[in-house]
Amino acid sequence: MKSTNEIIQKIHDIAKEIKGKVHIMEVCGTHTQAISHFGIRQLMPKNVILATGPGCPVCVTAQEDIDAIVNIAKAGIPVATYGDVLRVPGYYGSLDEAREKGAKVFDVYSTEDALELQKDYPNLVFFGMGFETTTPMTAYAIKKGLTVYSTHKLFLPAMHALIDRQEVRIDGFLSPGHVSTIVGSKPYASLKVSQVITGFEALDILVGVYMLLRQIVEKRKDVENEYRRLVKLDGNKKAQKMIEDVFEIGDGNWRGFGIIAKSGLEIKKKYEKFDAKKKYTDIILKMDLKNSRKFTGCKCGEVIRGLMNSQKCPLFGKSCTPEKPYGPCMVSQEGACNVAFRYNGRG
Ligand code: SF4
Repeated sequence: MKSTNEIIQKIHDIAKEIKGKVHIMEVCGTHTQAISHFGIRQLMPKNVILATGPGCPVCVTAQEDIDAIVNIAKAGIPVATYGDVLRVPGYYGSLDEAREKGAKVFDVYSTEDALELQKDYPNLVFFGMGFETTTPMTAYAIKKGLTVYSTHKLFLPAMHALIDRQEVRIDGFLSPGHVSTIVGSKPYASLKVSQVITGFEALDILVGVYMLLRQIVEKRKDVENEYRRLVKLDGNKKAQKMIEDVFEIGDGNWRGFGIIAKSGLEIKKKYEKFDAKKKYTDIILKMDLKNSRKFTGCKCGEVIRGLMNSQKCPLFGKSCTPEKPYGPCMVSQEGACNVAFRYNGRG
């Protein structure tokens, strides 16, 4: 393995062989965070642009789903979810605000915690979100009898949507490390784009960028795996089976994208008594946006699709900060706006 300085030099050398700019997109929230944390963007040659895509699960959760879970909590049903999600503002306020007004809302670290909580609150609803990485734990909890509002999503269809819609130039993907531990490296071949699956250390990311640039110079559209210490060709079969047992594939609703066909994970009929969307349909259908808070101006949708840098949003750092987030991309530690703000606007 080369040293960090040697890899940076190799990146600069190979970038000279590329005419014009090359656009590389990372699509994993942990990569977003790591790239800024290690200052990797600042180490790139001028013609290598590192852009951020839809890798933050909190950010891509649709407004309608946030509104539904807030309304469920306000109706007196206890709700548990991961900490970041509580502060995501919606038309009806956030789960945090609902809690301040007396709703029973709990933040948990895992579905195991939610199962524990369910002993005290038997009608607890867990707001499940995330990609293939977190879905197996939710599936396990449903099997154990936890009621879940699922916003779980499959990641590959979003990468296809980015390519198919052609809104943004993508010469290659730094493909997601965590998701790939579950799905494996094989499924990415369907994208027909240069890709490198990378880990999360500075050296992983730098090597991933170098491997991508080499593919681009050699005009290859391969799936290479830099994260071989954890990502296998076929992924984690046990986790895949856990997902397949409990969830079926449907259309997924993504903030920024809208509906992406076959990207959503809904609870199968055999577990429907644990499906909060079915259990509380009446509450969800009663949502009336007429009297709700006006919620305009957030550019998260554009940020998520890589069309806009967070700093270009007129609210960035003014009426939208990590302490007082206006949109979800500023809430989550993996959100592009939050990361850009915390790292002094370096993004
Ligand atoms: S800075 Fe705030 S308002 Fe602007 S896009 Fe980001 S989250 Fe939305």
